[in-house]
Amino acid sequence: MLQATERRPWHMSAFVTIAFALTPMIIAADDDVAARVALVKESVNTYRAAHEAVIIKDFIELLSLPNDAAVLADMERNADHITDLLELRGFKTQRLRAGGAPYVYAELLSPGAAETVLIYAHFDGQPVQEENWIHPPFVPTLLDGPIQAGAEVIDVGEVKGQFGPEWRLYARSAGDDKMPIIALMHTLDALAANGIERSVNLKLLLDGEEERGSPSVGRIIDENRELFEADLFLFCDGPMHQSRRTQLVFGVRGSTTVDITSYGAVRPLHSGHYGNWAPNPIMQLSWLLTSLRAESGRILVDGYYDDVVPLGELERDAIAAMPDVTEMLQDELAVNTPEGEGKRLEELVTLPAINARGIVAGGVGEKGRNVILSTATTSLDLRLVPDQTPQRAIELIKAHLVRQGYHVVADDPSIETLRAHRKVVKLDWHDAGYPAMRTALDHPMSMRLTGLMRMIAPDLIVTPNMGGSLPLHEFSSRLAVPIIILPLANHDNNQHAENENIRLQNFWDAITVYAAVLASFGDTITP
Ligand SMILES: [Zn+2]
Repeated sequence: MLQATERRPWHMSAFVTIAFALTPMIIAADDDVAARVALVKESVNTYRAAHEAVIIKDFIELLSLPNDAAVLADMERNADHITDLLELRGFKTQRLRAGGAPYVYAELLSPGAAETVLIYAHFDGQPVQEENWIHPPFVPTLLDGPIQAGAEVIDVGEVKGQFGPEWRLYARSAGDDKMPIIALMHTLDALAANGIERSVNLKLLLDGEEERGSPSVGRIIDENRELFEADLFLFCDGPMHQSRRTQLVFGVRGSTTVDITSYGAVRPLHSGHYGNWAPNPIMQLSWLLTSLRAESGRILVDGYYDDVVPLGELERDAIAAMPDVTEMLQDELAVNTPEGEGKRLEELVTLPAINARGIVAGGVGEKGRNVILSTATTSLDLRLVPDQTPQRAIELIKAHLVRQGYHVVADDPSIETLRAHRKVVKLDWHDAGYPAMRTALDHPMSMRLTGLMRMIAPDLIVTPNMGGSLPLHEFSSRLAVPIIILPLANHDNNQHAENENIRLQNFWDAITVYAAVLASFGDTITP
């Protein structure tokens, strides 16, 4: 703190007060940061309110560029445009490639800053089916509310004064995930206009192929390791909590998938002539599935929970403090009794899950036939949590099936194999999958960021990990930096689908959050 005070005269009066009052330094310093954050928030909001038309115009320009990662020329155009925006603000930029679409890397040093924040966002979007969009996906259209509520189109050039906070801008990637880029640019402008110094160095990794699974990000990091050295990694993607409260997410689940095929006789048999004699692959598959998982969802595979890191006290407290959506969801989704033996959704997503995502066998209704089939196949997706690995999950499931009396194969079994074994299953693992990631809530960086965010959003939601999966292990396995997810888009942004949008208040809030981080993260202290 002393160092921070010395390098920025702004802090001098607070420092003098502390010294004379003999107040414990730690508390006074925190108050000092809170006062500064309040001032930053006010100055930046005032600046934004006066510049909304320019900010929206800038966003519309970026959103007008088609951005399907499969079309490399389009992605280069996006990267060029973003590079111009960055260089205008003094960033040093680089185009990084490792065989796929371009990534834009940028860095902006801040005089006197000792720490570096690395921010991730992506500028590619899911392919569009233009016929499903009410307004064309690359003709960004401002509406005075959600499209499904019959909102009217607003002519951006005609807006006098402020834009409505509930207005929405419709375009591909408005919510997922070009907004952080424009929000950051205008945060920097707002800070500069107000003479507010940045407390951290800033690095950006802007991904041009996220919607394709960022296939080359691992190589890009490996080849440019030193570029990604940072003290905190903010991953700015994904929708916020349904309550619209500011949120930090500290982890994601991992994922892997498998198809399981069971076998009966080599040809379908008449169920009258052979019923009770011929093994029935659908019944076998049903036994197999119920052996994996209890009705509650509890996984019955021996050793499956051994690698699961139990939640700590902070994680449990954070979950308890989250808005409880159980009853709302039960009502909305008409679920009388959720799985999970009464545990909350937010806790259940910190546990591994085995989900049967499909079964293919025979026919029903008019396609039903009185046969005993030769095969039945189910497809499972396995959601993994720290410290499970896909490899270990695969081994455990295989061992479980062997204990159930199955002969487990990886390819279609030969007739000899079927003759030789009582029960045969084929396991077809589609891909290697990837592990989960969770940054501890008591990591000093987690505590500092949480404290800072509470200064601008006292009702901050802290989510130990979200249920979905992101390949963040590409970063966490290569970089020592703690990763925290900062979602900024409205939950109902229609990402990946038609009529994707951003709610303007979410856009404005993103600017406030970025301003607080850039201006003050470097001054926060571990509580
Ligand atoms: Zn995204």
